[in-house]
Amino acid sequence: MNKNDIIEILLKDPDEDKIFAEADLTRKKIFGEEVHLRGLIEFSNICARNCHYCGLRKDNPFVKRYRMSKEEIISSCKQAWEMGLKSVVLQSGEDGYFTARVMEEIISSIKSLTGLAITLSIGEMPRADYFRLKEAGADRFFMRFETSDPALFSRYKPDSSYIRRFDCLRWMKEAGFQVGSGIMVGLPGQDIQSLARDIMLFRELDLDMIGIGPFIAHPDTPLAGKNKNNLKAALKVLAVTRILCPKAHMPAASAMEALSPMGRESALKAGANVIMPNITPEKYRKEYILYPGKIALSQSPIETVQKAREFIKSIGRKESLDYGHALRMKDETKSA
Ligand code: SAH
Ligand code: SF4
Repeated sequence: MNKNDIIEILLKDPDEDKIFAEADLTRKKIFGEEVHLRGLIEFSNICARNCHYCGLRKDNPFVKRYRMSKEEIISSCKQAWEMGLKSVVLQSGEDGYFTARVMEEIISSIKSLTGLAITLSIGEMPRADYFRLKEAGADRFFMRFETSDPALFSRYKPDSSYIRRFDCLRWMKEAGFQVGSGIMVGLPGQDIQSLARDIMLFRELDLDMIGIGPFIAHPDTPLAGKNKNNLKAALKVLAVTRILCPKAHMPAASAMEALSPMGRESALKAGANVIMPNITPEKYRKEYILYPGKIALSQSPIETVQKAREFIKSIGRKESLDYGHALRMKDETKSA
């Protein structure tokens, strides 16, 4: 498929069920019926940046800011391990308190107390920091490039640099991380051409994980009111991406579920093979609002994981019992 083919698919409505079915088949060929669970811990909502789309942006005065302590983060991870999860995603705003040194301590403690695979989703850092965090034992790094359109990127992420964002993704790879990236679908001004370029870029970057979610306008941001329902569009981008990047781990983004009770199921039937139950302690969860409509605000971590397990069964899939590392690592072991 070249860019024009992708554009055609993204534009053609009548064919969408066919595309979903093909993506589902591709997912099945590579991953079978297994769904990976990654426990999401949102450990700080403090952020130095001002992304126009995000509820946690520095200039949003309505956010009650919090920072989980090192002990709380470690205890959430222990709980995840005790619940039988194999991996966690540690996510936060760009919070200057969590320097590479502080993160190193947290990562080493988690690794000494549990067998969890650790994904970091903490944004842009100096090159050397990625190496330190990898050395400390983190396995994966996830950071969306958000959009491949440089003009849109600088409009909505005014205090970041487009070039540097991609430098960071390259540095993560050089440091030895399994690397994930992704986009939002439906940013105001984003067109089909630009989405097609995003998908081409996923391939070029040779990503191990790809996260695609609908943009949802947050009322206390500069993009307030710029809402349309982007679920269908996001599902289509997800499906085409699965067909073009068959081996990437792709989560059913929780933003999909925020737009429809069927969102997560639709994503798992359009190419996704991962879900990320939120295991942030209840008292913090409602303060980590990237977009409105976030699900499971008042569930305990145990309930969220249990519900995720029931849900996987209910759609005829099964929970994976392995770590869900990048498939290329298995391929490398085989050929070694
Ligand atoms: N601070 C880190 C990680 C937390 S933000 C970072 O920015 O990389 C995680 C993701 O939330 C972002 O990459 C963005 O794609 C998504 N996000 C933020 N605001 C959103 C919104 N309004 N609608 C949908 N997704 C949003
Ligand atoms: Fe901060 Fe990430 Fe939100 Fe941007 S998207 S404001 S970097 S938390």
